[in-house]
Amino acid sequence: MEFNIKITKAQNSRLGEVDFENIPFGKVFSDHMFVADYKEGEWQDARIVPFGRFEMHPAAMVLHYGQAIFEGMKASKSVEGKPFFLRPEMHAKRLNNSARRMCMPEVPEALFLEGLHKLIDLDQGWIPPQKGSALYIRPYMFSMDEFIGVKPSETYRFIIFTGPVGPYYPKPVSLIADTEYVRAAVHGGTGEAKVAGNYAASLLPARLANQKGYDQVMWLDSKEFKYIQEVGTMNIFFVIDGKVATPALNGGILPGITRDTILKLLPEMGIEVEERAISIDEVVEAHAAGKLQEVFGSGTAAVIAHVSKIAYKGKDMELPPVAERKVGPAIKEHIDALRAGTIDDKHGWIVPV
Ligand code: PMP
Repeated sequence: MEFNIKITKAQNSRLGEVDFENIPFGKVFSDHMFVADYKEGEWQDARIVPFGRFEMHPAAMVLHYGQAIFEGMKASKSVEGKPFFLRPEMHAKRLNNSARRMCMPEVPEALFLEGLHKLIDLDQGWIPPQKGSALYIRPYMFSMDEFIGVKPSETYRFIIFTGPVGPYYPKPVSLIADTEYVRAAVHGGTGEAKVAGNYAASLLPARLANQKGYDQVMWLDSKEFKYIQEVGTMNIFFVIDGKVATPALNGGILPGITRDTILKLLPEMGIEVEERAISIDEVVEAHAAGKLQEVFGSGTAAVIAHVSKIAYKGKDMELPPVAERKVGPAIKEHIDALRAGTIDDKHGWIVPV
């Protein structure tokens, strides 16, 4: 399907103002954005316009009742300088899963992808060529009805904007297993949807963790505070006694696209991986027995982030030095090589802009 996307170009590009060697994260935005409005039961007026502010009504429903969902993805350049996405259709699908949970209309996958391709094609000069740098892409949707009263809105806006980000070399992160707050409920809640409210709910526990001296929260399940769910805004993997495992999806965990990629790559690298319930007690026991070899988070931003230590009930569990780890570094190298176009993409995950 071809959509009629009207393009209004920015009169002056701001590209010349950006120092690609030194990009502050999340503060630099490219020249254009894609916008579509949902009215009278259909998506209308799909357009690419100069990036900029827009007006909102004080009663806009999103500001009160929080129908707001988003995605986070990247475009990067291969070593030959060709721009591409990694598994873009997965982000369109996840956005629509989130939309269904929030009682919002789906964005036709073809409209999402066409808007994405046209926008990034137009702003491809904004994709940093430096190794490890990328153009971060933020698709999102929110309710627009000007109305006070709890019900699903009838009008929505879908936007995609982008901004260049520098290479992300995270230091190993320290975690604290939270026994007071949860990120989301297991079963029946909103954890498996990428909804704004989940992130709002995570801020206080994250601040408390920082005040105690830890980088991020390790989220436990909402029923027993026993089973590990995720870490910060990443999925989590464990290597215990040579075996790799990640918590099985349970309705409360966000199905990360990096998580899915890792689950498919590991067996091809000759490494077995299990999706199963992982309790904090199992991790404590494995650590005491000297069998907890690696813990790492996975997500679009960092690909993987090594965990340096985990605190649980007042005790710190230190993990082996990163130099001794195998699985996490091998995965990172593989995904970075896919993004650089230096290894065979047999899954067809790489999609040219
Ligand atoms: N969990 C949460 C809560 C997240 O916000 C993210 C980032 N989208 C992830 C996991 C990792 O998902 P992905 O690999 O798709 O970036």
